[in-house]
Parts: sequence; structure tokens; C-alpha cells
Amino acid sequence: MPNDFPTASAVPCPAPAAREPRPAPAIAHRLRQELRGQTTARLSDGDWAQLAASIGAPEAQVRTVAAFFEEFSGTTAHGAHFPSRPDAPPRSLTTPPQLIATADDTTSAFSLLKTLATTENPAATLAGRLSAIEGLARHRIKAGRGLSSRWAEAAATPAAERFVICHTDAGNPGSWSGEWLLEHRPGLVIAGMCFAALAIGAGEGVICVDRSHLSLISRLRTATEQARAAGVLPDDFEISVFPTFGSPVGGEETALLNAIEGRVGEARSRPPEPEVAGIFGKPTVVESAEIFARLPGWLRSGRDDGQRLIGLLPPFAQPGLVEIDATVTLRQVASDAAGADGLSSIAALTVGGRFGSLAFPEKWDTPLDLETLRKARIEPANFSLSPVPQGQPFSDWARDQLNFAMSETCGRCLPCRLGPLAALGELDASGEPTHRLREILDTVAATSLCGFGRDFPRPILQWIERWRHQPAGAS
Ligand code: SF4
Repeated sequence: MPNDFPTASAVPCPAPAAREPRPAPAIAHRLRQELRGQTTARLSDGDWAQLAASIGAPEAQVRTVAAFFEEFSGTTAHGAHFPSRPDAPPRSLTTPPQLIATADDTTSAFSLLKTLATTENPAATLAGRLSAIEGLARHRIKAGRGLSSRWAEAAATPAAERFVICHTDAGNPGSWSGEWLLEHRPGLVIAGMCFAALAIGAGEGVICVDRSHLSLISRLRTATEQARAAGVLPDDFEISVFPTFGSPVGGEETALLNAIEGRVGEARSRPPEPEVAGIFGKPTVVESAEIFARLPGWLRSGRDDGQRLIGLLPPFAQPGLVEIDATVTLRQVASDAAGADGLSSIAALTVGGRFGSLAFPEKWDTPLDLETLRKARIEPANFSLSPVPQGQPFSDWARDQLNFAMSETCGRCLPCRLGPLAALGELDASGEPTHRLREILDTVAATSLCGFGRDFPRPILQWIERWRHQPAGAS
């Protein structure tokens, strides 16, 4: 295998004029001038490169600004990477089914809230009950910390204001669970947010809703009014809706916080974590709609068995949502999704979307349990599954992954801004998983600022690793 890692002079570099970051409003102003009202037709990669050159800003930054302002939404490729949720109702592979097959259990969630609110110290009582939930510390880890310790940190950080944010993970294709829950279980989501407000002492809650689903707002308003009428929404806790265009930077939560503050959705450096300095520098807990919807059930039963709603993406024969628990294996889910097509036409599974991992057949008996998946070197950025068909050329698949990275990167840091471009250049030149391509992606993963840049190279690197041992392809 050739060891031809590029020298500095061989790495494609934008012209000096295009490298200076510009303030977002200035870019938006120039975009308006350049596009002259032509903001409904989607622009090609060549168009974006040309626009960025004439504006004199990095292409990734120009794309990020365009994705932020609704007036330019028709020009971005964002929607092309995000298939819509199929109409079919969710299926269940777990017994007993929880969120999808049982009736909306909002009333009992509300009575639990009322009972808690009447205790002498609701926040302390809730903290005790959260830390006693069996399985919660195992199944709901984020940035290496369990849910109850993250919330405890937000509660303990001195501040006059605290925030609770509910997102739908709209930045990752196939993350349909949030959208489904806001539509079908809004009361449970609101109840979960009220528990979070009680736990950390928050005065404001924000639900992020993709602009293509603004019809959900009326359901959320009704559910909020019901919670207030039932006397469970604290008087000093307000819930509002923030419309997003997808979710900035593939759902990176610090980018979402910037967007809510009215800034361009660029990722922030960590630490500090949002629990310490989130919205406007105040302690903030950011959780998915699914976490909030499941919380009342966990508090009632004292158990978390790792149930999740997984998005099954095309080209599975039966795409849609399926509910699983931590004992269900990748093979079981894939068999259910493949239907009569079976698994013989699948070379690998993409677990966790564009930022997740590739799982080859020898790993398909791994259960969808976070800890077990990680031991098997499968890192699921979220819980969605898509098949890589047998015979899929590496170059086509990798190009699609890199184009996604190009269209979603915020452009703040150099490796993630230029890395996909350099990798695409290498791919176009060789069409193969070369050593040089691996070096470029390794560098991006090792040096990028946030999870987006650190994670999108992973599945491509896994295919390259596979190819080293089976040069005929991934299968
Ligand atoms: S890695 Fe850097 S450029 Fe990429 S999304 Fe994160 S902050 Fe933006």
C-alpha cells in the first residue's frame, strides 16, 4: 500500500482571499447581493465554491450562514441528506413495549409531578430518586457522564437563572424519534421537562422544533396548557418553542445553544459543559425529547432497561421507527427492517448515522447496549441504523459521507473545514481507500474542535481498515 501522505504543498488550499472568516451578518448581506432573490433553487457544489470565492469567505462558513437564515434555506443541500420519516407507525421489538404501544401516560406523569412537588424539598427528593434508577447510569451517558450527575452539576452551579432544552436530534439523518414523540406524546415530553426544571431549579424551557414541523407547535401549546391547568407546570417555569433548520452542525448541542442565543450555529469549545455555562452562560441541561418522554416511566418503575426508538433508514425494505431495549441485537433489528429481502444483500450496517460506526456481519450479534457496543468498537452517535448494500463501491459511499460533512460543518476550525475537501480530492484522484485518505481523516478526527469533526471520519476509517484486510471491498 503506498505511503503517500501529502506534503504541505500537495494539500489543496483555498486561495488566501477565501480564508478570512467574516462576520455572519456581512456574509448574509453579501449572499443577498450575490443571489439577487434567487434563493429557492438548490446550489451545486461548484456554485457554492464560486459564491465563497466572490464573497471572500471560507466555503463552509458561507454554507453555515445560508443554513442559519431561513431566507436561504432553499439553496442548501441540507434536505437532500435527511430522508423524511415514513408514514408507517413505529414497531416494537421489546417486551413490554413502552412509549409506542402503550397509551399516552401523561396523567400518571402529572400526578407523580404533583406528589413530588408536595415533598419538603422536591429537588433533593428528585435527585435521590434519579440516582436510584437502576440502569440509568449505564444507558444514558453523555460526554462520559450519566444523566443524574449532569443534572446535579447544573443544580449545584451558582446562577440566578437555569435552562432546560429539549432537542429532537434533527441534525442526524434518521433521528425521527423526537419528531414522533412531539407529535404523539407531547404531554410526556412536557412532563419530563417539568421534572428537569424541578431538579435543577430552571425558570425557562425551550423545545427546538425543526422548521419543517412547525405544525407541532399547536400540539405543544395544548400540552403545555394542560400541564398548567393540571397545576404541574410551576408558575415560574415558562416553555417556549425555538424553530431550527435541521439542527446546526449535526446536532452538536453547543452549536444549538449558539443558535438559540441568536448567533450562527457554530460549536463552542468545551469545557465548560452546558451544565455549567450553557445558554447566555447559565447552567443548562440539554436532552432529547426521548429522554424527557421516558423519564416519568423510569421514575415510576425505578428501572431503565435501555429502551430506545431507533430510526431505520432507506434502503432498508421497511424503514421507520422501531422500539428496542438493550438486549435486542443488531441482527434482530436489521432482520426486522430488511423484511423479506433478508440480510444477504447487506455488506455492513451503519450504526448511529453519519457520525456513528460501521458494523460488519461478525458484529451483528452485539446487543444495542451502549457499553457492549463500545466494547465491540461500535460508537453509536445516535441510535439509527442503515444498510450498506453488497457491491456498493467504496468511492460512492465515502463521497456521500464527505459531501454530508461538507454541507454540515460550521467551518470554525481548519481540520473540519478543509479536511472533507482534501479527502474528496484524494478520493477523486484515486477512487480507493488509500493510505493518504486515511491519514487525512485521522488528522481531522484527532484535531477537530467538536464531536462533528471528531466523529464523521470514523465510519470511513473503519471501511478503510476493513479494506486493508480484504482489499476486494467491505463485504
Ligand atoms: S469540528 Fe470545528 S468546524 Fe467542524 S463542526 Fe465542530 S467546530 Fe465546526
